[in-house]
Amino acid sequence: MARRKKVYEGKAKILYEGPEPGTFVQYFKDDATAYNAEKHAVIEGKGVLNNRLSEFFMTGLGQIGVPTHFIRRLNMREQLIRQVEMIPLEVIVRNFAAGSMAERLGLEEGTQLPRPIIEFSLKDDALGDPMVPEEYIIAFGWATQQDLDDIVALALRVNDYMSGVMHGVGIKLVDFKIEVGRVWDGDYQRLVIADEISPDSCRLWDVQSGARLDKDVFRRDLGDLADAYTEVARRLGVMPSNATHMPKPTLIN
Ligand code: UDP
Repeated sequence: MARRKKVYEGKAKILYEGPEPGTFVQYFKDDATAYNAEKHAVIEGKGVLNNRLSEFFMTGLGQIGVPTHFIRRLNMREQLIRQVEMIPLEVIVRNFAAGSMAERLGLEEGTQLPRPIIEFSLKDDALGDPMVPEEYIIAFGWATQQDLDDIVALALRVNDYMSGVMHGVGIKLVDFKIEVGRVWDGDYQRLVIADEISPDSCRLWDVQSGARLDKDVFRRDLGDLADAYTEVARRLGVMPSNATHMPKPTLIN
């Protein structure tokens, strides 16, 4: 049997050529990285959970009319996606101060922002994904003013959808990152949500306790990352059909 062609391998996912032109297969690895890959671990079951969670969010977005690259889930770790031309930006939406924003502005983590704030980073690992103003994005041609207007509108819709879904299960959406791609329809382009939406790219806090249910558990050594993601999946009713991550046996004295 012919081996399928790997198109790209990133820190948490691999892209393979898809079964039809214009498609890719996106494979979710168990690898977790933070601080621009300075910290790395393999977290058993993470890829399966993120595949399911990203499917859940992308499907929901599609149902309310927000276009995404998602076509369908293929198996435990893989989903079929549309091939898109990636815009080389990370689009970050913040509802509450945390992480780099809290640090930069000396704000206490969890401070509610006056309104959702959107910022952009250039996707460039070698440079550590530097934050870039719109002026740079347009001047360097990474996206046009029209693209940015469309990206902001998309990002705010994703924020409203994700905030509402999470609120319904007792989770606060503190911030998140999305990536956007272009799809061409003849001479016309459309922007779609690409990459993934999962606890790897969101900050999710339990409303009651403030417990972290996202990648900060790994970044800050706060416990078991797969337990946190399993809790998010459980609350959303998104459980892998086969248990992928069972709580470790505890020794009873
Ligand atoms: N984020 C991400 N990938 C990145 C950088 C940030 O998914 O390369 C997400 C991160 O998980 C958080 C949000 O974007 O939900 C804002 O991250 P921040 O800028 O505070 O950076 P961090 O503190 O994670 O370095």
